Amino acid sequence: MAKNIRRIGVMTSGGDSPGMNAAIRAVARSCAYYNIECIGFYRGYQGMIEGDYEELNARSVRNIITRGGTILKSARSKEFMTKEGRQKAADVLKEAQVDAMVLIGGDGTFRGGKALSAEHNIPIIGVPGTIDNDISGTNYTIGYDTALNTVVDAIDKIRDTASSHNRLFFVEVMGRDAGFIALNSGIGAGAEEILIPEEDLGLERLLDSLERSRRSGKTSSIVVVSEGDKIGKNVFELAEYVKKNLPDYDAKVTVLGHIQRGGSPSCFDRVLASRLCVRAVELLLDGKQDLMVGFVNNKVETCTLDEALQSKHEINKDLLRISDILST
Ligand code: ATP
Repeated sequence: MAKNIRRIGVMTSGGDSPGMNAAIRAVARSCAYYNIECIGFYRGYQGMIEGDYEELNARSVRNIITRGGTILKSARSKEFMTKEGRQKAADVLKEAQVDAMVLIGGDGTFRGGKALSAEHNIPIIGVPGTIDNDISGTNYTIGYDTALNTVVDAIDKIRDTASSHNRLFFVEVMGRDAGFIALNSGIGAGAEEILIPEEDLGLERLLDSLERSRRSGKTSSIVVVSEGDKIGKNVFELAEYVKKNLPDYDAKVTVLGHIQRGGSPSCFDRVLASRLCVRAVELLLDGKQDLMVGFVNNKVETCTLDEALQSKHEINKDLLRISDILST
């Protein structure tokens, strides 16, 4: 155990995701276990700049493992993007005698952490927390599993009403640059088509597929659309386009929006957050820094923050084929 780490800071940053509280709890409890102090910074980097923090002990994180959101709040900080902002943050860390930081968030959070570490030599470990699952170096990010289950639950409910009225529903889900949520929730909820940013299906193919579904006697159709899909139309324009070209369809739109971020974390996300954050604290105590902890093939692994930032977490395109076969 490196002698110089006596106090570790933790914060959540960027978009919130279910399981962030389980992560905070795991950091605070691991610190208590190893007899070091833990400080929680509110509102991500903005709270760090403003000195908005409090000490977390094993008891102050009681009963939060079940809660969605983040007790430390999250924020996006423009000021931290500047050298002056990061200088202020480093001054606060020095004054608060914080020796190292665990940063829970997405790629922007890790970029900020890298800058802080490079300019002020503050040991950083990143923990991937985002519902989008778009971080390289881990098979799963904290919050993704819960979001996926929320989406499947919502689509199941939409299916009930869709099949009662022979309707077609376009369901927009989160994922500006990554189709993980759309692809997996689409298969899980038995969607007829799935539109993702990684693949341009084309409007003609969409019409053909819906027409085939209708002719094959389907009483309802669900198309799951990722926010960032590349077909060139937003979900409302898509519904209008289909109504114009396939007048037999009564097409409706549901945008799931922020319900996807909320809710009590799934057991998977709680265990994932717990395992990643215990390791994050242990790595700092071992004198490691500038790493991200991830979950790869059922094991907690590490990669450098650079590796996590440089490559893209690719979706498994074979899932599109699976979806095609099963929506016959
Ligand atoms: P999500 O994937 O949920 O959006 P994120 O961590 O990528 O999460 P961002 O808003 O991109 O969310 O980043 C969080 C914060 O990290 C930003 O508000 C900013 O303060 C800081 N940050 C992002 N990029 C940089 C950068 N290049 N340099 C310094 N700080 C950065």
